[in-house]
Amino acid sequence: MKRRDFIKYGTIGLGVVTLCGPNAFASSHGGHKRVVVIGGGYGGATAAKYLKMGNPALDVVLVEKEQNFVSCPISNWVIAGMKKMDDITIGYQGLEARGIKVVHDEIIGIDAKAGYVQGKKGKLEYDRLIVSPGIDFRYDGIEGFDAAAKKLMPHAYKAGPQTVQLQQELAALPAGGTVLMRVPDGFYRCPPGPYERASLIADYLKKNKKGSKLVILDPHKKIASKGKLFKQAWDDYYTDVIDFRTEQVIASVSAANKSVSTYEEEFKADIINFIPDQKAGDLAFALGLVPEKKHWAPVKPITLESTLVPGVHVIGDATDPKTSGPMPKSGFVASSMGKVAAAAVIAELAGKTAPMPSFANTCYSMVNATEAIYVTGVYKHDAAAGENIKIAEASKTSSGRSERYGRHAEDWAAGIWSDMLT
Ligand SMILES: Cc1cc2nc3c(=O)[nH]c(=O)nc-3n(C[C@H](O)[C@H](O)[C@H](O)COP(=O)(O)OP(=O)(O)OC[C@H]3O[C@@H](n4cnc5c(N)ncnc54)[C@H](O)[C@@H]3O)c2cc1C
Repeated sequence: MKRRDFIKYGTIGLGVVTLCGPNAFASSHGGHKRVVVIGGGYGGATAAKYLKMGNPALDVVLVEKEQNFVSCPISNWVIAGMKKMDDITIGYQGLEARGIKVVHDEIIGIDAKAGYVQGKKGKLEYDRLIVSPGIDFRYDGIEGFDAAAKKLMPHAYKAGPQTVQLQQELAALPAGGTVLMRVPDGFYRCPPGPYERASLIADYLKKNKKGSKLVILDPHKKIASKGKLFKQAWDDYYTDVIDFRTEQVIASVSAANKSVSTYEEEFKADIINFIPDQKAGDLAFALGLVPEKKHWAPVKPITLESTLVPGVHVIGDATDPKTSGPMPKSGFVASSMGKVAAAAVIAELAGKTAPMPSFANTCYSMVNATEAIYVTGVYKHDAAAGENIKIAEASKTSSGRSERYGRHAEDWAAGIWSDMLT
């Protein structure tokens, strides 16, 4: 690649980054080591903040393609009309105020030997790279998933325009209408997420759209997360609303018929929320972090460094749980991984051994507009086994649902957003 082919990044003031100007980002970092973090979601924003807190002398650059952070946790509340998009949207000024440079660009490639990543607007050299690209979707094996079907059957599983689309479709549903939701198979982000959404949609239909139904097509044998607690709530509140079907394998969809078909039956609905199976974010594939014919990025369990590309750490949903450990793909875990990767990078750049990792998860799910249930998990490295494991005695599920937990769910969000972004 030739020098003149790139628009160079420059900096104006502390942490504010604009295009053009001096070539400050391409070669010299003022004598300081530079760590580039790609993806300003739960994993990446936390990693950037903890890198700068842990070693203020580091030149930390966060690259995010969107202008703002938009949270998936609490996005189900938006779908059910309990919150607005503004409530789950936060800017990156808090990180900039810490001296982190925030660049808005989409990264499309890497030269790991030369030590730079290529964005659509320019290139960025790094001493270490942390990548947290989240997930993308797999439509393979399902006939009929063309552009029209994708538009008609939003996943709303990346908070953004599809969250708004689903909320508006629900608001416009006539009484007696049918909503269909498909639960994803395999590893997917936020295992209880579809069931929380189903609960909030059912609650909304019961209160606002008399006689409406929610059909849930689930590939699992039973509810895949917090099963007993969700089932209890559905039995108590939604027997007249939810039609829950297990072991459903989807064969095709039809935009023309507005339908989803298993190998046995065709389901038509006024609203279809189809959450496809998932894989690491496309960026992980573009950077060579996912082996051929696989879906997730393998990492070393202590440092979360890629086993495929040296000097590049992968965190969050994109990691292969067979290598990172038995943690669920959650925002809390992604943030936890951000702290582990930051500590490892700081140590290794100083010529020291990375500390032993510790990961945690806390995840609340609403079962109606006020009550929630929760699960917690704590994980550590088992040196003898060479892998990360769950500490059973430090992990638990709530014994029931309560309004107090519902208030804690909102506090959880405020707490983690503050930890990541201010
Ligand atoms: C409905 C729903 C409810 C959820 N509820 C909870 C909950 O209650 N608790 C919980 O802990 N988790 C929850 N989650 C899961 C949580 O959202 C994810 O686990 C978390 O977002 C993963 O963090 P991440 O950093 O891996 O990815 P993300 O947070 O998705 O961040 C990835 C970022 O990378 C950026 N990016 C991607 N590619 C590029 C590129 N090429 N160049 C530049 N930037 C790029 C994206 O724009 C994005 O900002 C929920 C998820 C959903 C969908």
